[in-house]
Amino acid sequence: MTTQITYSTAQLQAMDHAHYLHPFTDHKDLGAKGTRIIERAEGVYLWDSDGNKVLDGMAGLWCVNIGYGRTELADAAYKQMLELPYYNSFFQCANPPAVKLASAIAQIAPEHMNHVFFTGSGSESNDTVLRMVRRYWDLKGKPDKKTIIGRINGYHGSTVAGASLGGMSAMHEQGDLPIPGIVHIPQPYWFGEGGDMTPDEFGIWAAQQLEAKIQEVGEDKVAAFIAEPIQGAGGVIIPPDTYWPEIKRILARHEILLVIDEVICGFGRTGEWFGSQHYDLKPDLMPIAKGMTSGYLPMGGVIVGERVAQTLIEHGGEFFHGYTYSGHPVAAAVGLKNLEILRDEKIVDYVKEKAAPYLQSKIAQLAEHPLVGEVRGVGLLGAIELVSNKATRERFAEKGMAGSICRDMCVRNGLVMRAVGDTMIMSPPLIIKPAEIDELVTKAWKALDMTAEQLGVEVSP
Ligand code: PMP
Repeated sequence: MTTQITYSTAQLQAMDHAHYLHPFTDHKDLGAKGTRIIERAEGVYLWDSDGNKVLDGMAGLWCVNIGYGRTELADAAYKQMLELPYYNSFFQCANPPAVKLASAIAQIAPEHMNHVFFTGSGSESNDTVLRMVRRYWDLKGKPDKKTIIGRINGYHGSTVAGASLGGMSAMHEQGDLPIPGIVHIPQPYWFGEGGDMTPDEFGIWAAQQLEAKIQEVGEDKVAAFIAEPIQGAGGVIIPPDTYWPEIKRILARHEILLVIDEVICGFGRTGEWFGSQHYDLKPDLMPIAKGMTSGYLPMGGVIVGERVAQTLIEHGGEFFHGYTYSGHPVAAAVGLKNLEILRDEKIVDYVKEKAAPYLQSKIAQLAEHPLVGEVRGVGLLGAIELVSNKATRERFAEKGMAGSICRDMCVRNGLVMRAVGDTMIMSPPLIIKPAEIDELVTKAWKALDMTAEQLGVEVSP
């Protein structure tokens, strides 16, 4: 028998500091502040090791779509672990949960997308995208079509290919990225970069940067355009209404694959199964992860449209790509149960018909706050822009300071909202109830008041 040792928060923090290197973290800073240990969760709430209850306005990291504490997923994992904890999908093999999950995903994906390549994460999915896109053009006898066009401030993961496809300058600076054959165009971020243009004018301008880049690189060298339907990590950037229609018009004129990164928008976040359906897009590839298992186990994939899948299948020849954990049976069993819950409990309809309209109408009220320059949202995604001047969209002098104060104030009020620079973002579990949305918005308002106070901005009582 093993003895269970109970550690205090201070002990866990000391061990963490001694041994644990965290993702996307300034370790010196973390050492000074101390890690928050999250111990358990239920529904939309988290509890930390000091017993504080926190409303999780980010669904973990945009992933816990069905909420915490669903024992059905634990049962599915347990059962599958006893039956077959692992086997690979190489060498002519497959396992029942992976086959069933591929088929279930094909049923909810856009009609022309019927195949899935499994991975272990969103980053691995985008590494797969890079290799599959280039393999496709090789098979088509156009090996010069290698360049992939991404967007500045897009996010596609943290591996070398993922970070290169993404357009985060801070990530590029560390490690000589992007790798060759990847270029970027401006993002459709009207609030931050639209200047004197109207949102509609700016949407057209931003889309036309794709046409300009295709001309610059040469269509015979361009393999694909990759974009998130709505940029998540970049700050919940919702393109102006004119953007996607103009991108579609441009793509219709060129022989270029469209990759829509559904890692955040997939599995219900916008009120449709996929963000591509929300914007009526017809992608060739859709990288997925996160909501695919609601984060209960790590898993990702690429949903592949007929044009690419049939080329791979009909041409033959080995595609030298895959992962030990591609189609992991336990992750797949959890993914299947997660899909079943999303479908049987009509959670995507709930988002579209109830939760999203309610959340959007409530967060729109935050625009009244003196610190807030814009509130925007789609589905259960939301963003709040913090400004020093509402009329001119001017920011506070020290970039990111208002956002980081506001994030800390949210935590102090029992709410997780993330700050991207001076943009506060949210992405709560899809099962959030109206009363919990009320609580989220009340806490956000209070956090904004406390932020204003710290910044010396007057708020009316
Ligand atoms: N693509 C997008 C759009 C994402 O938001 C993320 C993660 N935030 C990724 C890819 C990478 O996923 P992962 O962290 O699972 O590697």
